[in-house]
Amino acid sequence: KLFNEVQELKGNIRVHCRIRPFLPGEDQTSTTIEYVGDNGELILANPAKRGNEGNKLFKFNKVLGPSASQDEVFKEIQPLIRSVLDGYNVCIFAYGQTGSGKTYTMTGPENATEKDWGVNYRALNDLFHISRSRRDTVIQPNGLAVPDATMHPVHSSSDVIELMRTGFENRSVGATALNERSSRSHSVVTMHIQGDRLKEAQHINKSLSALGDVIFSLSQKNAHVPYRNSKLTQVLQNSLGGHAKTLMIVQVNPDASSYAETLSTLKFAERVS
Ligand code: ADP
Repeated sequence: KLFNEVQELKGNIRVHCRIRPFLPGEDQTSTTIEYVGDNGELILANPAKRGNEGNKLFKFNKVLGPSASQDEVFKEIQPLIRSVLDGYNVCIFAYGQTGSGKTYTMTGPENATEKDWGVNYRALNDLFHISRSRRDTVIQPNGLAVPDATMHPVHSSSDVIELMRTGFENRSVGATALNERSSRSHSVVTMHIQGDRLKEAQHINKSLSALGDVIFSLSQKNAHVPYRNSKLTQVLQNSLGGHAKTLMIVQVNPDASSYAETLSTLKFAERVS
């Protein structure tokens, strides 16, 4: 109830920020992350300025520091995910520069073991676990509106993981210098749960900036929300507007050389929260 009230006050978008740890081989001597608080505070330091002069305070619903585990990240959003079974549309997506940990948060590292599974797998497990006890719930990915996508009934998380692995392999990947696993495509898995409660998916595909525009205009409670600007935002429309609950996980890199990108990412996130 409290969650719903907060949502009404703040608009429909919650924002969690996750700072990824330094990776082996990265220069760990200078970071822009000055402070992470328990109540969603984050202080970003400008490496070009001395002392506290370039510090900027941000406030989100939650900030997860570099040592946060996958389990901690998931625990923070578990109630939101479970509200799917009460008929809510829930959209969780990761936003941030290449290499900031979007894939890690949503899916996990390559060859993940159970302990580093990302939000996707944990959400599936949780929903299957609950739906088994409710018996009336049918869960199946429904990607029919995506060109060339196929729809498969699934009965367990491992069925879905297998499907996602196939999808991942089929993804057209443009490796970048920054990160080989980064791809220039979106990965969309649509779960069709309690079919009569969810409306048909729409058409998809295009860019994150269109998603950004939609998120921003929802947060401003604008009468016109530009869903039609990309297929991605059209397909997510039911999950983003109206009675949907949306969580944006903002990913940032800790290193000083990412300062400009980090600042603009956090500013965007602040505008929508
Ligand atoms: P993105 O999807 O945003 O381009 P990735 O998720 O591929 O970024 O992350 C870049 C690299 O950082 C990967 O090697 C990933 O395993 C690693 N990484 C990201 N977040 C974490 C984390 N929280 N803990 C450990 N390694 C991480």
